[in-house]
Amino acid sequence: MSTAANSSGNVLKLNSRRVVAERTMVFGFDKPAGFVFKAGQYAEISWIDPIETDAEGDARAFSIASAPHEEHLVFTTRLRDTAFKRVLQKTPLGTLAKLEGPFGDLTLHNNVSRPAILLAGGIGITPFRSIVRHAVHEKLPHKLLLFYANRLPEDAPFLDELSAIERENANFIFVPTMTAVSRLQRAWTGETGHFSPEMLTRHLTKIATGGAHTATPIYYVAGPPAMVKGGRAMLNDAGIDDDDIRTEEFGGY
Ligand SMILES: Cc1cc2nc3c(=O)[nH]c(=O)nc-3n(C[C@H](O)[C@H](O)[C@H](O)COP(=O)(O)OP(=O)(O)OC[C@H]3O[C@@H](n4cnc5c(N)ncnc54)[C@H](O)[C@@H]3O)c2cc1C
Repeated sequence: MSTAANSSGNVLKLNSRRVVAERTMVFGFDKPAGFVFKAGQYAEISWIDPIETDAEGDARAFSIASAPHEEHLVFTTRLRDTAFKRVLQKTPLGTLAKLEGPFGDLTLHNNVSRPAILLAGGIGITPFRSIVRHAVHEKLPHKLLLFYANRLPEDAPFLDELSAIERENANFIFVPTMTAVSRLQRAWTGETGHFSPEMLTRHLTKIATGGAHTATPIYYVAGPPAMVKGGRAMLNDAGIDDDDIRTEEFGGY
C-alpha cells in the first residue's frame, strides 16, 4: 500500500547538514505544513537550480530517517563523487529542493503480537531509524529486533543513538555487527561477521519468552541491492517464507 497523498511536490529549504559517520551525511529540511508520512517511507528529492549537475541528474530517492512526529525531515546518505552529492556538501544552507512523496510501504505491520526483525545493511538503517524512533515515541507494544551490519563502527551512522534507545526501551533489541574484523581499530565487543541464521536465532531467543510475543516474526531488510538479495536468501535458507519478508532496495548503490 503506497501513500502518495502529498506527492505533488513541496519546495523546501535545506536547513541542516552534518557528517555523522565515515563518508556519511545527515541533512534536513523543515517539514512542510500538512506533510504526512509513515515511518519507513521514502521521498524523492530534486535540487532546484543546483550549482552543478551531471548525467545522473539532480534527483535521488531517500528514506526519511526521522520519525513522523519530529519537526524536521531528516535524510542520511553515503557521500560519493556525484554532482548530486557534491551539491549536498557545498551548496549554501537555504538552497531550494523539491520533495515528492511520501512513497513506499516498508512500514511496521499492525499485528503487535508478531515481532519485527529488522535487517539493515549500512545506509539501509535509514527507514529503520524512523520506525524505531516512531515506535518508541508512540510506545508501540511491538517487539523490535534490529540487526545492523557495517564494515567498521566508524562507518555506522546512529550507532550510539540506537544503543542508547535500546538501554531505555525493553521492547527494542539492537544487534550491530562489524564485518571488517581485521581492520577494527577500536575495541569492539559486539557481533562480528555477516548476518547468519545462527546469529538471528541466538538473539531471537531473547524475545521468545512466551506471553503475547510468541507469534512468528515479520522480517524487514533494507540496504544496497546485493545486501538485500543476500538477506532474503539467508532468510529463505533459514526457512522463512517470502510472505513474512519485506524489503527495500536502495537502487543506485
Ligand atoms: C526506495 C529507496 C530509498 C533509498 N534511500 C536511501 C537512503 O536513505 N540513503 C541513501 O544514501 N540512498 C538511498 N537510496 C539510494 C539513492 O537514491 C541513490 O541512488 C544512492 O544514494 C546513490 O546515489 P549516488 O549519487 O551516490 O550515485 P550514482 O552513481 O549517481 O547513482 C545514482 C543513479 O543510480 C540510478 N538509480 C537510481 N535509482 C535506481 C533504482 N531504483 N534502480 C536502479 N538504478 C537506480 C540512477 O541512474 C541514479 O541517477 C534509496 C533508493 C531507493 C530506491
